[in-house]
Amino acid sequence: MWEPSDTYPDPSIEVLDSRFQKYRLNNAGIELLATGIRYGEGPVWFGDGRYLLWSDIPNNRIMRWDEETGAVSVFRKPSGYANGNTRDRQGRLVSCEHGGRRVVRTEYGGTLTVLADRYDGKRLNSPNDVIVRRDGSVWFSDPDFGIQNDYEGFKSEPELPTHVYRLDPATGRLDAVIKDIQNPNGLCFSPDEALLYVVDNGSRPNRILVYEVNRDASLGQGRTFVDAGDLGLPDGIRCDMDGNVWAGWGSGPGLSGVMVFAPDGAAIGRIALPDRCANLCFGGLRRNRLFMVTGQCLFGLFVNTQGVGCP
Ligand code: MG
Repeated sequence: MWEPSDTYPDPSIEVLDSRFQKYRLNNAGIELLATGIRYGEGPVWFGDGRYLLWSDIPNNRIMRWDEETGAVSVFRKPSGYANGNTRDRQGRLVSCEHGGRRVVRTEYGGTLTVLADRYDGKRLNSPNDVIVRRDGSVWFSDPDFGIQNDYEGFKSEPELPTHVYRLDPATGRLDAVIKDIQNPNGLCFSPDEALLYVVDNGSRPNRILVYEVNRDASLGQGRTFVDAGDLGLPDGIRCDMDGNVWAGWGSGPGLSGVMVFAPDGAAIGRIALPDRCANLCFGGLRRNRLFMVTGQCLFGLFVNTQGVGCP
């Protein structure tokens, strides 16, 4: 059973490089906010309602945690085995569904609109993670993890390679913008959206790649931003205001938790958690609260920076 640190500063928050020192609040520790999840993913903050949503994939539900009361409830079940979540520029929830093999938007009234479920006439694999750019375009990864078994979706054969896509919701146009990664996963933009970071779970070792985003939203040549080493397993990623990349990380002792990388790719900080962190997001009233989803738990930590991309 995980126990919070009874001393400050919390020894689970490690400064690997002096550049990380200013982001650690010496009087803040890791808090366990919720448990009882079968496999957590896709946290997204709703500042207007002061709550967090996140996916419990095998239980086919999206969960809700309320900041003011700490109450945990079911937001939606069935969720189509939802994985990654985000909000569009109008604040609407956008979700990746393994089950429906699609990306959906939840309208203000609660109905679902399918944004994408096919490319080139073939079914998507299992959309995993999603982000929305300031121009309204929806970018998502489509690995085949969610159709490899009947646990996090429905076992099936892929019909398509594992691309990263950009969708224009206004026209429905869907473009495959990265075609050479086997099983892309987490995505995030730099604060100025001039860079796109993409987790590559297909290469050995795993990598985080970075691409320049051109004026027409096409991508330059990808290059390695972080080499995850022998055992490192990156998943969901988010940028803070200074352009540091906070990455959910696994798997195993000394690896599980969150790794923080400076814009030059150097590892500057680490947050140790009892299990692999699949995904994370910033939220709270001042966007300075980091929410971290592990297999069975939701953890929170106040930090001395703010996330970008939070409506
Ligand atoms: Mg993921």
